[in-house]
Amino acid sequence: MRRVTSRRPRRSYAPGVTAASTLTPHPRPAGARRREALRAALREAGLDALLVTDLVNVRYLAGFTGSNAALLVHAGDGPGDEARTVLATDGRYTTQAGAETPDLPLLVERACGPALLGATTAAAVGFDSAHVTVDALDTLTAATAADLRRAPGLVERLRAVKDDAEIDALRLACAAADAALAGTIAAGALAAGHTERDVARDLEERMVAHGATGPAFETIVASGGNSAIPHHRPSDAPLADGDLVTMDFGALVDGYHSDMTRTVLVGPEAAVADWQREIYALVDAAAAAGRAALRPGVATAEIDAAARDVIAAAGYGEYFVHPVGHGVGLVIHEAPAMGSTATATLEAGMTVTVEPGVYLPGRGGVRIEDTLVVTGSGAEPLTASTRDLLVLG
Ligand code: ZN
Ligand code: ZN
Repeated sequence: MRRVTSRRPRRSYAPGVTAASTLTPHPRPAGARRREALRAALREAGLDALLVTDLVNVRYLAGFTGSNAALLVHAGDGPGDEARTVLATDGRYTTQAGAETPDLPLLVERACGPALLGATTAAAVGFDSAHVTVDALDTLTAATAADLRRAPGLVERLRAVKDDAEIDALRLACAAADAALAGTIAAGALAAGHTERDVARDLEERMVAHGATGPAFETIVASGGNSAIPHHRPSDAPLADGDLVTMDFGALVDGYHSDMTRTVLVGPEAAVADWQREIYALVDAAAAAGRAALRPGVATAEIDAAARDVIAAAGYGEYFVHPVGHGVGLVIHEAPAMGSTATATLEAGMTVTVEPGVYLPGRGGVRIEDTLVVTGSGAEPLTASTRDLLVLG
């Protein structure tokens, strides 16, 4: 049994009375603008509609944050085509859908994707093939006579370029992480005897105290030899004088993820070894070269090369073992890809990380990572913490 409920506000006005909303222009909801952009992409791809089943993509296009949902967007550019966009979710979320997505008709059904397909007459329907399992595809195919076509990445490509509200959310997420690090340093938590886990917990609690709903991902704190492991999990290892300590962490604000890494040195100045200063300065220079290369029209692979060339020229190329960065937004790693084999090109409004590192197995490593937004002529860092080598006793 399907129930399509129109959530469209119905207004009736006495003849000659003008609706207040026609007198005062107000910005259209972000979802409507994004769906319009998606419709243009669908027409270009030769699709009549797109079935969106990835929950992050549903959130981006419709504002709905429940755990079971799908969205059907029709491709046409006529005035009635937006009206044919339907959100589906199950009975647990009827109230939430009304609050979060009041501008779309709602189909209440547990099997959201098949229900939406069963209700459309579109002939060529794309689906989020990067997110649909083989079993789920069988179920979708059985639900429709439409020609189901793989359409990976259509929404992800739109998501790569952020609007002002998204950049504001990322700015707040970056600020929460910056404030957390400042607090952790001021509290003396980065000192010999404290464990990696202590530091991770301290950073995460402070991010929440500064407005985050939680950490953006599992916080990495890696000390001493562990700092040579790019994605080390915090352990009960105590920090010791002379340790490099790499902290890679971020805050989640309104669904948006910040991502930063700072490496500090624990101990008195006398405990700092020359090799540590050397690789710190090298990574700092590589990160600066990567950031300086960011601007619209540049291939992301060139950002990787800009940072990697600095490290390779110093003879440490084999110790920089990961891509220079990644896009970041509603997901911690999203488009554009930024590695040496990436094929993306930067556009204004993309939010990306630049995070070169040098990792000397068994000895230690350094990574410096900022989140930035590409602007019309370059890039603006959203991460504000100092990149100077901090030696903390
Ligand atoms: Zn990171
Ligand atoms: Zn990152």
